[in-house]
Amino acid sequence: MTRKIKVAIDGYSSCGKSSMAKYLAKQTGYVYVDTGAMYRAVTLYALRYGYIADGVVSEQALVANLDKINIAFSDEGHVLLNGEDVEPYIRSMEVSDNVYKVSSIAEVREHLVAMQREIGKNGGVVMDGRDIGTVVFPDAELKVFVSASAEKRAERRYKELIEKGYADTSYDAVLKNIKDRDYSDVHRKTSPLRKADDAESIDNSDISIEEQNKLLMDLFNKHAGFQC
Ligand code: C5P
Repeated sequence: MTRKIKVAIDGYSSCGKSSMAKYLAKQTGYVYVDTGAMYRAVTLYALRYGYIADGVVSEQALVANLDKINIAFSDEGHVLLNGEDVEPYIRSMEVSDNVYKVSSIAEVREHLVAMQREIGKNGGVVMDGRDIGTVVFPDAELKVFVSASAEKRAERRYKELIEKGYADTSYDAVLKNIKDRDYSDVHRKTSPLRKADDAESIDNSDISIEEQNKLLMDLFNKHAGFQC
């Protein structure tokens, strides 16, 4: 019997990590965990309760209330914030513009990393984020690091937002948001985004979804095949 492994998919904002992770989870019957959605849910909570005002996060107040924030996932994979399905709200530009500030707070990271480790401890999980292969599960059997040019990512994200009805968004605002998030993710003190030494790289700027999926399945079979 093949043991169920842990798969870590890390990389830059909007480079298709979640599509890859969802595809792999579906093919393998593994659980998919979108850790970005967890940081987004905490950001939404902070916005709703006034812990972010004029773009400034009141860190002390947010950290003091972290134990009031319960995050879970519904059967269809939607993030639940204190029981409420907040999937429709967490992809807004307001949340995107503030999430990287919230995700730089060490206490927020500790809180969410502990939840992520609990969810994935028995394997059979595909988790996507920024620090899964380096911090959350440095022992993951398969680590994938995904990248694509900022312009390609902005094009895809802009199209997605327009399709979802965020009509007041401009391409330039999306590109700026992606560059700001990249900078913050790479330069923050706690758990900055970096490729784990043993991660496999995929740059999907110029490959089709089919090619990407094939690459991913080949990597999965290679890494999962060693477990028995
Ligand atoms: O993946 P997504 O773009 O939805 O993530 C939103 C933000 O959450 C990222 O820009 C990053 O700042 C933060 N994040 C993180 N660590 C993770 C997942 C997301 O810092 N594991």
